[in-house]
Amino acid sequence: MSFLKVLMRNLVSGPSTDPFPFGDTFTPEALRGRVSFDATRCTTCRACEQVCAGDAIRFDNVPEGKRFLLWHDTCTFCGLCAFYCPQGALTMTTDWHLAHAQSDKYLMVEDGLIPSAECADCGSKYVAVAPTAKLFPRYDASPEEIESLRKFCPRCRRKQAAALVAAATAKKIA
Ligand code: SF4
Ligand code: SF4
Repeated sequence: MSFLKVLMRNLVSGPSTDPFPFGDTFTPEALRGRVSFDATRCTTCRACEQVCAGDAIRFDNVPEGKRFLLWHDTCTFCGLCAFYCPQGALTMTTDWHLAHAQSDKYLMVEDGLIPSAECADCGSKYVAVAPTAKLFPRYDASPEEIESLRKFCPRCRRKQAAALVAAATAKKIA
């Protein structure tokens, strides 16, 4: 085909590529993009920090509790943190719009606070991340009862959990 024919055909049919960055482009549904963090689900087990391939995740102790920090610039988008998080607190989004100016590199973070609370029994400060029903299926207590353990510090929680199991077992035997 002659050059002029190809030119004419292309002029008539229009561009066959996406107009990005001046318009939308295709994003595959399974794309692993920016990681999103939900502090309300996090139990600070730190499994994500252990498996992170890019060493992008960090936990800091702050007066208000524990602060989660994920550096997008260091993240390799491997998805391991989301895969291993037992609480579903981390998810891979399809957002890949992470281009930024060098001066903004320290702003490219995903962060969240897991607040500390006062124990309902002894009054000491602790990070309020009690076991959930999902993590403790062996307890013979209702999910609400297990969830109520959230009000206690780890020390008092052990006592309360033992009482819960004892009460449930006694109910079963009776
Ligand atoms: S985000 Fe998930 S894996 Fe990471 S500390 Fe929280 S609960 Fe654990
Ligand atoms: S996607 Fe991979 S590199 Fe990125 S924060 Fe999660 S574990 Fe780390």
